[in-house]
Amino acid sequence: MLILICDAFDPTLPEKLRVFGEVTEDASRLPEAEVALVRSKTKCTAEWFAQARKLKLLIRGGVGMDNIDLEAAKARGVKAVNTPQASAVAVAELTMAFMLALPNRLVEAHNAMKEGKFLKKELKRTELAGKTLGLIGIGNIGREVAVRARAFGMRVLAYDPYVKQSDCAILVAGLKELLPQADYVSLHVPLTEETKGLINRQTLALFKDGAYLINTGRGKCVVEEDVAEALRTGKLSGYATDVYSSEPPEPENPLLAAPNTLLTPHIGASSKENLLRIGEEVVKILEEYTGKRA
Ligand code: NAD
Repeated sequence: MLILICDAFDPTLPEKLRVFGEVTEDASRLPEAEVALVRSKTKCTAEWFAQARKLKLLIRGGVGMDNIDLEAAKARGVKAVNTPQASAVAVAELTMAFMLALPNRLVEAHNAMKEGKFLKKELKRTELAGKTLGLIGIGNIGREVAVRARAFGMRVLAYDPYVKQSDCAILVAGLKELLPQADYVSLHVPLTEETKGLINRQTLALFKDGAYLINTGRGKCVVEEDVAEALRTGKLSGYATDVYSSEPPEPENPLLAAPNTLLTPHIGASSKENLLRIGEEVVKILEEYTGKRA
């Protein structure tokens, strides 16, 4: 059995998988592979599946399956699975890092210091304590964010039409209830037909003036032009995002020129600890698939 590792996993993983079969990171061997491992970089399109002639099992290390054409996988008889639990803490910690860095103006302060400017009087910070966080989506990651935000003294509201009760957030009925109350809005939904472009000119109008928007979900859940405009007008005080409509973002992506942004290159799940956890879940999946023990 050939196992093809397509994207960046924990460097010790290939060795751990050798018990199950031959392991390669040579993408040109896709037509021979029975099992393939991807994260979000490889786009598993219908063309990709057409090349993967011997593929039976596709493992997505991480959560979102939006880089996988699940219809094509089904049509080819490929079982596609992910590692849904592993990444919640890693992404929640990046979300908190964003929520701390934006109102504390860490990026501006740091850049100014490097330019020899000591902006002690100019840089006014704001605190998280006593503020309201509005979560859109309260699944694995949203929950971890809620727990951490409450420890910072925030009031946590959440809108999630598929969750009926929560022990860590006050559930609200819709965006119309959530957005006007929130000082911070954080996105933790999958990319679906329903969530595509969820944050747009109309929904931005419902935000509190000067709110902060955080996105560690998916870039296409927001209309980037509309967010850039809201940053220019001051409707939003800041936008921190790990994800973009196309990755890496095109040079003309409006966010690159917009003020008050904090941009990271899709590193939410890339903590050392998380790559190890994802590796452990991959091993479990392969133990089940092959009947062998690692
Ligand atoms: P999850 O499935 O545990 O939770 C998603 C929640 O969103 C669910 O509770 C679901 O009911 C809710 N939801 C679905 N449609 C909604 C809608 N229209 N409005 C409001 N809520 C809705 O997933 P998770 O593990 O919490 O991950 C959430 C998303 O985060 C993933 O789908 C992925 O896109 C993204 N993610 C990003 C990174 C990163 O590196 N930045 C890493 C992991 C996951």
